[in-house]
Amino acid sequence: MPKKRTTNQQRARRQRNAGAKYIRALREEASRTSTGLPQSFGDATGEHGLTIAFPYGFDGYARLGCVDVRAYGPGIQMSVLPAESIDAATGAAPWVTSYSVGTNGVQGPADRLAGLLATSTSGDIARTGEGHTIVYAADPVTGLGALAEVDSALLLLPEGTPAPPTEGILRRMRLPLEVWEELGRAMSATVIPRAEAGSAQPGTVMGHHPCDACERPVFDSCPSTVLMGRDGLMVVCPSCVDGSSLALCRGMSADRTLPPVEPTLLARIEGARAAALA
Ligand SMILES: [Zn+2]
Repeated sequence: MPKKRTTNQQRARRQRNAGAKYIRALREEASRTSTGLPQSFGDATGEHGLTIAFPYGFDGYARLGCVDVRAYGPGIQMSVLPAESIDAATGAAPWVTSYSVGTNGVQGPADRLAGLLATSTSGDIARTGEGHTIVYAADPVTGLGALAEVDSALLLLPEGTPAPPTEGILRRMRLPLEVWEELGRAMSATVIPRAEAGSAQPGTVMGHHPCDACERPVFDSCPSTVLMGRDGLMVVCPSCVDGSSLALCRGMSADRTLPPVEPTLLARIEGARAAALA
């Protein structure tokens, strides 16, 4: 169907553009801090949500992380895997937060988060209890935006007091402003309208299972596909079926600034794509 091909081509172009921007921004970041994540990539995952996948280095290999946003109960659930965190030594700290949408014309934290991301505007978003606040800091100089959970006391520092650069940051995710902007726009356009404003807040995180190929969490509202792989049945995410995950991994393999892609990850993603085409 011509229409579908066009949509996929447009998506692929956006992914390449976002990836190139991310590489540039994070090379700059890496040159300043000797850390950093070298590439990014966006992918619509079907109903109720959006996932942006990116490579990260751990244990000598490049692996796949993601930021996932989807409607859940009275608002949205955002998952960051892995986030930079105070226990970042583990290399795989997940960060899951929920934000409610507004009712009766009043903005809720979800609306505020989407607005700040879409416009690359810095600001505080929501209290999370225990003296912590979610903030978004957009830096046009580095081209990076940081979504972070910080000690609320940091926000009360007298004007002119330099904030400690890392102290008080519990969790953080840095991505190029362009990637956050795409995420913010998608939240407003397709995710927030699906939330059931005013309904009860679920007591737990949305059910999910890891994709058998890329290991990304596949949440209950995201379609998954059962394939017959070389080693039996695989339940995989849409990106592994449509070839997006494989294209990202091949791009990572070709990027000499990255460590090699973790071999079993690459083999599983290649196997899923081959099974989807069979
Ligand atoms: Zn997958």
